Amino acid sequence: MFLSLLFLPYDPPVTMVSAMAPLSAYLSDVAEAWIKLDGKDFRLDDWPMHRAIYDGRHLRTLLKTSRQVGKSTTLANFCIVECSLIPHFSSMFVTPSKEQTVRFSNSRVQKTMRYSPIINRRFLHPELSDRVFHKQFTNGAEMLFTYALDDADRLRGPSVDRTNYDEIQDLLYDPVVIVGNETLSESDYQFETYAGTPKTMENTIEYLWEKSTQTEWVIQCDACKKHQFIVSDACIGKRGPECLGCRAPLNPRNGQWIDTNPPKIDQIHPETILKGFHINQLIMPSNVPAAMQGQGPDRLALAEKRWARILRKYEEATSMAVFKNEVLGVSDAIGARLISLEELESLCLGPALVQFPAAPDFQGYSLHVAGVDWSGGGQSGLSRTVLWIWGFRPHDQKLVCKYYKVFPNTNPVHTVEEIATICAGYEVSMVIGDAGEGMLANSTLATKLGPHRVHQVQYGAQKEPIKWNGRDRYTADRTTLIDNFFMILKKAQVEFGPLSEMHVAIEDILNEYEEVTQSGRKVWRHSPQRPDDCLHAAIFGWVALKLVQNDMKFYH
Ligand SMILES: [Zn+2]
Repeated sequence: MFLSLLFLPYDPPVTMVSAMAPLSAYLSDVAEAWIKLDGKDFRLDDWPMHRAIYDGRHLRTLLKTSRQVGKSTTLANFCIVECSLIPHFSSMFVTPSKEQTVRFSNSRVQKTMRYSPIINRRFLHPELSDRVFHKQFTNGAEMLFTYALDDADRLRGPSVDRTNYDEIQDLLYDPVVIVGNETLSESDYQFETYAGTPKTMENTIEYLWEKSTQTEWVIQCDACKKHQFIVSDACIGKRGPECLGCRAPLNPRNGQWIDTNPPKIDQIHPETILKGFHINQLIMPSNVPAAMQGQGPDRLALAEKRWARILRKYEEATSMAVFKNEVLGVSDAIGARLISLEELESLCLGPALVQFPAAPDFQGYSLHVAGVDWSGGGQSGLSRTVLWIWGFRPHDQKLVCKYYKVFPNTNPVHTVEEIATICAGYEVSMVIGDAGEGMLANSTLATKLGPHRVHQVQYGAQKEPIKWNGRDRYTADRTTLIDNFFMILKKAQVEFGPLSEMHVAIEDILNEYEEVTQSGRKVWRHSPQRPDDCLHAAIFGWVALKLVQNDMKFYH
């Protein structure tokens, strides 16, 4: 068995003695010594910037990358090597969909392990699990694979040492990432890896990038000696990236990683530093003829061809935003909104909001319902609890906002009590709260208002707009519900209170924007810095009305 270690250029064999002790080997060297890809030795010669990702041992890593720069290969190889080197280490992969996770597990991880003889011989064993969602190593290490788009249900449970989120731009930060990282709480390591391709400026990946070291591959120009890094199309030349100072060709092999947003001296806590690497197609030596000089005519010709393909994409790009995202690996543009500020303001025609209604406040309304978005207590500290009260006015069939309130903290007893009191005052027919973080609060509310009046809804991704799970909650398709709610706002089937009282709610509603995921699915997102709780409280209240009225029609 130990024979395999003779392939390594060092001795003694690598072990991890304690959580923070350095490995006595560079993971990039081990990857090159142990891994074979498509029958060939894995080499980082043409991927010089990837070494830092293998070897950095950063607690928190972000890979903000364009397409086709080896992101998935790096994630897979890195985790295979890490699990091989650290006995009993466990690593969890999360992508936005089952398909993406299955593909990653089968074609990146399983294939590589099977066809890398050292790893196959030393770490695989027929009696150990080698399933798509769970792989065990002979040293007790394991890899778990799961997926989560709009809800974190599949992430709860296991305890792991590293979470890896791939295609992070398509995952909801809150709750998915926050709940996902709870799996690290028992670990001595608590490593986090985020990887994805940028989208809009409001996306999760840009949020993480803003907080990261913003580490760029800084290339020195051979001609004028200026240093620069590539974040725009201004450097695109006929035969490769060019110096913005003198237009000489840039050779990415002259690059080195530089933090452009280094941690401030007085706030350096290693556990909070997020090392963010930006990798794009223009800095990959294999795409750049200047980097392939002296490597033989075939490799040079291949680089010429690859650069020509980038130029073609640049010239034919129907959307500059997509070129920036997928080739330059930078965020661009803001997300699409279905509804405008003017449209929302035009709904503000209703009476003043009332916390404790008197008899006249009930006149003209056939019933009242409520929605509560319970605070997830997210790390960002921006998630709040919101109560929303709707009244239904039969004469014009309108949904009228009678009251809403934003509670800034997680759900202490007095918040739940106040919500129960307001709901009782309005004699609401039904209250719906979100199930995710609100399980306990919902059951307290049910005790106070009666179980028949309190229900919970859990967002997720499913075919049916909404269905009863047969036990304790409704499950709903998040996209469909938000789509439908925006439609009734657009059709002005809703009346808000006076504009002066609706600013917070309107801001929350406008924070929600539309994106299309890598697998072509439409989703609603909000920046982790910009809350949307009022929107969801309003939606849950509206769902309560639909349930009371037994109207389960949705535009779908
Ligand atoms: Zn220059």
